[in-house]
Amino acid sequence: MLFLDELADMYDCEIRLTRALPKMVRKATHAELREAFKSHLDETDNHVSRLKEVFEFFGMNAKARKCEAIVGLIKEADEIASDNKGCPTINAALICAAQKVEHYEIASYGCRAEWADQLGNDDAADLLRQTLEEEKAADKALTALARLRCNESAQDGASEEEDAPRMGKGRSMRPVPSRARAR
Ligand code: FE
Ligand code: ZN
Ligand code: FE
Repeated sequence: MLFLDELADMYDCEIRLTRALPKMVRKATHAELREAFKSHLDETDNHVSRLKEVFEFFGMNAKARKCEAIVGLIKEADEIASDNKGCPTINAALICAAQKVEHYEIASYGCRAEWADQLGNDDAADLLRQTLEEEKAADKALTALARLRCNESAQDGASEEEDAPRMGKGRSMRPVPSRARAR
């Protein structure tokens, strides 16, 4: 059944995110961003539990079906993080990767909540919408952090925190003029 298949996809997705987020926490060099990732990790544990409950509302045990989308998004997050490791762009890069994940989750939970309505399961729809709202809030918090804290330092090539090592591959958000690149 489409609804349950998609629920199994989301269940796999959230479980993978509980493993990926601690890595994002370690890779972020901005204190507020680390905190934002940590608190979303706590929420994500809850998202897993809620999905289990939603399965129960349909008289099923939770099952996971490999979510190819999140596997790809996590792979890209790993790539962008290693490309920007030790650079002032690292936090802006991590935010970008995380927001792609949030948008995927927002689309997924939005659909699933509508389907739960359609199937007449109000309790399931309620739980799915609680998670949907947390994904939206996480996305907004990341936008605010990017705007207030991380994008500017990425552009200037300055590190955001005193204690952050300023290792210098000198990667910044500014495009490198082609003459400088040619050498
Ligand atoms: Fe989630
Ligand atoms: Zn998926
Ligand atoms: Fe999320």
